[in-house]
Amino acid sequence: MEEQRICILCPAGCHLKISGGKDDFKVEGNRCPRGAQYAYDEIHDPRRTVTAVAMTDAHCSCCCPVKSDSPVPKAMINELLELIYASEVKLPVRCGQIMIENFNNTNINVIFTRTINSTKELMS
Ligand code: SF4
Repeated sequence: MEEQRICILCPAGCHLKISGGKDDFKVEGNRCPRGAQYAYDEIHDPRRTVTAVAMTDAHCSCCCPVKSDSPVPKAMINELLELIYASEVKLPVRCGQIMIENFNNTNINVIFTRTINSTKELMS
């Protein structure tokens, strides 16, 4: 196995060359140890922080910004987005308030990233 990735953990953007399997895993091109861990996670358990918008119960294109409070396994991202997009949020909401708790028993929550008291705030 040989793969290339760009480390996204800092602006240096090191080009990583990844080879080997679980027992002889090898990373080259990383300028710090975080890059090696990033490469390992990308191959064995890739995750992403999910950001999206959730529709309010007032509809009329009024949406609340939300995000996962920790990275989500890539294989579960579509399922989480479908859940968010199928939801109707009742205002008001506070920044940091949980919208979806313990998604799929992963201990990952989806939280609001903005305090919104009414649809008027979204329209202005
Ligand atoms: S390997 Fe280290 S220095 Fe390079 S991009 Fe990743 S975090 Fe930054």
